[in-house]
Amino acid sequence: MISNLALLLTVLSCQELPAQQTWIDQELPGLVTLYEKLHQSPELSFQEKETSAKMAAILKENGFEVIENIGGYGVAGVLRNGKGPTVLVRADTDALPIVEDTGLAYASKVRATEQDGHEVGVMHACGHDIHMTVWSGVAAYLAQNKSQWSGTLLFVAQPAEERGAGSAAMLADGLYEKTVTPDFALALHVTGMMPVGDVGLCKGYALANVDSVNITVRGKGGHGSTPQVTHDPIALAARIVTGLQNIVSREISPFDPAVVTVGSIHGGSKHNIISDRVDLQLTVRSYEASVRAKVLAAIERCAVNEGRAAGFPEDLLPLVELLDEHTPAAYNDPEFTERIASAMRATLGDARVHDAPPVMGGEDFGRFGPAADCPSSIFWLGVSSKEMFQASIVNGTALPNIHSDKFAPSPSGAIRTGVLAMTAAVLDLLQ
Ligand SMILES: [Zn+2]
Ligand SMILES: [Zn+2]
Repeated sequence: MISNLALLLTVLSCQELPAQQTWIDQELPGLVTLYEKLHQSPELSFQEKETSAKMAAILKENGFEVIENIGGYGVAGVLRNGKGPTVLVRADTDALPIVEDTGLAYASKVRATEQDGHEVGVMHACGHDIHMTVWSGVAAYLAQNKSQWSGTLLFVAQPAEERGAGSAAMLADGLYEKTVTPDFALALHVTGMMPVGDVGLCKGYALANVDSVNITVRGKGGHGSTPQVTHDPIALAARIVTGLQNIVSREISPFDPAVVTVGSIHGGSKHNIISDRVDLQLTVRSYEASVRAKVLAAIERCAVNEGRAAGFPEDLLPLVELLDEHTPAAYNDPEFTERIASAMRATLGDARVHDAPPVMGGEDFGRFGPAADCPSSIFWLGVSSKEMFQASIVNGTALPNIHSDKFAPSPSGAIRTGVLAMTAAVLDLLQ
């Protein structure tokens, strides 16, 4: 009896598969063309004018009510289809200042001007073009198959993710007030570290709080031969950099992940000149808010007191500045994440749906769930070709991953899996 019931349930759960798979197989060539067009026309953060217009047009074609220019070039579309919860599906739209070096026929040749005025190459090196293509496919499938679900869709095309600013800007501009407030929020992000066909879900903290800190180490310059009449900011900067390493190792529990990295240090001009300034730039990562607060306070305490320990006068102690570009941690509600994982397993098969470890990277998708007080989850979509992935296992060759000028997703398989996985999750939530 139990085995007959199990068989029946398997048959029932598989009945919907052919509809989605037939649809995606028919639509895939068009989606790959869309992907290649998006890949060839990347736009930098805060400059996503054409990309957002394209996303708005796609939603309109599918019958969504669309609002544009939310928090800059943000776009939101609502599709109502009877009673039921509201599901937010986000794609991010910006690209990176990188000269593409993939050699692909559809490689980007775009150049643009950064906010600071210098010209750069532009590349979708973080795969946001895959995100937009999958999002477009999911929107089209759901719009064309309304009999399969009941509820409301909120599709969000978010700009300026790479600056950690786009989701905050959209929410501050009243995203939910202008549209609807979601009951669930979903997104995906590509990864070169998994093969095409696979997805990975992390329960709990998936991505980290990201903070940027500047430390200005002030000094009193002079001749390199007479350090006793100067306050050497380079020697002090070295003490600070070394001292900062003790924060995570000595002050934070080994069970609370945190990172303090000094990514930039600049000071001095010549062998025999003691300068009067060194600039440090730090990235700080954490999950828990309390750990974040503790690490940031410790950085200031360490920098200022190293100055005192080095005998610097109070008016020359280091200045510590927390920049206004915080990205909050992305917390994947465990129960919600397990729910969508099982929906994906029913569509993709158990072998294709993995538990993914947390990472200390940042993703400003983490704001959408807390702003609506609803569960949210972002999952990983594998984009490395099976051949490349196999070769990396056999030969140990590194896989080009996001933010690399050689990052080259294998589009058709990744888009197919992304649409099937995201559609499975949304349909499960809107039954
Ligand atoms: Zn990125
Ligand atoms: Zn990204």
